[in-house]
Amino acid sequence: MSALRSMARGRPSRIAEPLTIRRGLHEAPAFYFKDRSRGRMTLIRNGTVVDGTGGPARRADVLVSEGRIAAVGAIPRAPDGATAYDASGAIVAPGFIDAHTHDDVAVLEGSAGDSGSNAAKLSQGATTVVVGNCGFSLAPWTPRPGRLEPPPPLGILGGAERFVFPGFPAYFEALARADALADGRASGHTVVLCGHSSLRAARVADLGAPARPGELAAMERDLEEALDAGCAGLSAGLAYPAALASSAAEVTALARIAFRRGKVFAIHLRNEYDGVWAALDEAFAIAREAIGASAEPGARLVLSHQKCAGPGNRGRADELLSRIDRAARDIPLAFDAYPYDAGSTMLEAESARASRRVIVTWSRPHPELAGLDLREAADRLGLDPDDALEALKPGGGAYFHMDEADVDAILSHPLCMVGSDGLPADASPHPRLYGTFPRYLSRMVRDRRLLSLEEAVRKATSLPASVFSLPGKGVIREGADADIVVFRPDALADLATWQEPLRYSVGVDLALRGGVVAWGASGVSPLR
Ligand SMILES: [Zn+2]
Repeated sequence: MSALRSMARGRPSRIAEPLTIRRGLHEAPAFYFKDRSRGRMTLIRNGTVVDGTGGPARRADVLVSEGRIAAVGAIPRAPDGATAYDASGAIVAPGFIDAHTHDDVAVLEGSAGDSGSNAAKLSQGATTVVVGNCGFSLAPWTPRPGRLEPPPPLGILGGAERFVFPGFPAYFEALARADALADGRASGHTVVLCGHSSLRAARVADLGAPARPGELAAMERDLEEALDAGCAGLSAGLAYPAALASSAAEVTALARIAFRRGKVFAIHLRNEYDGVWAALDEAFAIAREAIGASAEPGARLVLSHQKCAGPGNRGRADELLSRIDRAARDIPLAFDAYPYDAGSTMLEAESARASRRVIVTWSRPHPELAGLDLREAADRLGLDPDDALEALKPGGGAYFHMDEADVDAILSHPLCMVGSDGLPADASPHPRLYGTFPRYLSRMVRDRRLLSLEEAVRKATSLPASVFSLPGKGVIREGADADIVVFRPDALADLATWQEPLRYSVGVDLALRGGVVAWGASGVSPLR
């Protein structure tokens, strides 16, 4: 019985609709609250508040009004007109911030199998997502003569029909419209990075070469426009085909623009396998040079999805983290990671070679093989795995190339944020899309006791709020944005698996976004 289970008297102020899940296998049907009581007050009573700062948990009630936290403390009587929830036995925390996503389309339209509002993330308690990671974003590349299809890796976000934004102002307008559809507020719950590969795709004629001076100048203008429109920074994915040939000088010139405006530069390293150490040094060198004398406060290097991948790197988390610690002495930086021993990206031979197992997550020529082990897919095609991998392109794969002990060590680091890196467009996505935050909390706090609950919540809330300069987010205190998650630590579990990747997690009872109840688990109803 949920602590928030229905004790409703009279009619609840909501209309609940079962979600239609494409391959809906979740056991506990989840519901959106189509909350028509916008602007009303909400009181969350009797919970244990973990406020996101890392400070000790405490019993407190939380009152929400007009999208903000109006009071935290003992509030014995609900004000007139307030909707009250009983959170006895539950934790009340700031909504989680997913520091690394590819939800660029999902925030506009809903993610795989969901009917809207990015339920894959809200169901995990993540109320804010950072999109545009790994160098690819939905703007500014659009299909054009000679480049009708999104050049890899842009296709991870979807087909050419998704790329309809010639600039970031248009993308932000669409976001505002989608937010309006989702909950009536243009709410800033999507943090947008401008992708370097997307800039290149739009401006560089030969993606197999560094940008020419005129091309770089055009990319710089596009980036300025993106930052003017509201982007939180620049991302790069130097391992990917559209960016592999770019020079460090090109990337530095763009990162400098972001840093001068106090923004973030997030980098998917040029190599994550045997070349990772040189790639890390390259990222630090770019950041040092780009910061120079002109960076504004807020400038941050973010190292994307840190891991020890491939046979040559497994077991080397301590070395990785001490290198990052050394760099952090003179570079303002943070990094993100997800709590799984497999990564996922395009189908590519280098990742497959470094992995003990590969699962096909999508394939344009062979969609029927999504979800299969590469070996099985190869058998069905009558090819050896190397040839099968080529025959399945364009497509995606999940790569089992890490050790659990490294994953734990990386996630435990105080500068490590939580980033799902889920891929909503995949036919059979990595389960991190639906399971990251419940898995992170249950594993790191409850099962392995590697982090206190307060510290684990801090790394998923106030840390990313600080890294991405999101004032008002990531903390429970008076005046803060009313982004709130209510969850039961003992019940938290990720149910998404490789066989059933679209299953919702359990244990998150409520998620409020901008003061509006955006997610409520089955059976959760207001007291009145
Ligand atoms: Zn990514």
